[in-house]
Amino acid sequence: MDRIAWLNGNFVPLAEAKVSAQDRGFLFADGIYEFTAVLDGKLVDSESHLARFERSAAGLGLTLPIASTEIEAIQRELIARNALDQGGIYFQLTGGPAERDFLAPSTEPTLFMFTQASDVLERPAAKTGIAVKTIADPRWARRDIKSVMLLGQVLAKREAAAAGAQEAWLVDEEGFVTEGASSSALIVTAEGTLVTRPNSQAILPGCTRQAVLAIADRDGVKVEERLFTVAEARAAREAILTSASNFVLPVVQIDGEAIGDGAPGPIARRLRELYIEAARSLG
Ligand code: PLP
Repeated sequence: MDRIAWLNGNFVPLAEAKVSAQDRGFLFADGIYEFTAVLDGKLVDSESHLARFERSAAGLGLTLPIASTEIEAIQRELIARNALDQGGIYFQLTGGPAERDFLAPSTEPTLFMFTQASDVLERPAAKTGIAVKTIADPRWARRDIKSVMLLGQVLAKREAAAAGAQEAWLVDEEGFVTEGASSSALIVTAEGTLVTRPNSQAILPGCTRQAVLAIADRDGVKVEERLFTVAEARAAREAILTSASNFVLPVVQIDGEAIGDGAPGPIARRLRELYIEAARSLG
């Protein structure tokens, strides 16, 4: 059975969801998106994702055609219509169709949402850990906006995959890690402190990262938001990535070098467990 998507006010079979070839999202990458995980048929960290969706839209001067509460209600309906138990909802807002003109106003924005099923709980990588490759950050300067302009991330991920890694860790001109191509980057120092780059225009403010930092703090883990270099990450006791699609994953290799003893570390494993427990206890 084809999935049911939602496009500009209508529930439609995904294969029949069509937008104009003049859409500003297609011509200019003038659009933003979100991905909210679904666990046990329920949205995870929905409030944070909707808030970031609104913030990203404002960053591009786009107006949400319907309120966030309505977007969430449609997402619940999509979960029900697609009988989605585990996976997530992708949603995107673009400038909509207009004459190809840099300055054309966005009068009919395109709002699109669809579900993706995936086994978010049983990720083999949670047990084995993943390898990352560091790559010079190729993106624009407003990485805090979750724009659909993802070519930098696509190229970085391709380069990482070609080197046998499952994620790219992007590095700024001073040698500090910004974030993963589609995840937040964290490390654990020899003293057991969880370190991650503070939010700024240089990174996307990760919703999962925000929840995980609060969980770590409650669990007695010292949290420090500061810059860290690739060298510090390589020498760290543990390395970790967080994202809505992968929750918390241990990073066990950076540029072919083992992190710690090369196996998933105790803080990564515990934070994953606690994050899933907290997500499952959501109403
Ligand atoms: N950083 C980037 C560049 C991302 O694309 C993502 C997720 O797609 C994240 C971080 C993690 O954010 P979140 O935890 O909100 O999924």
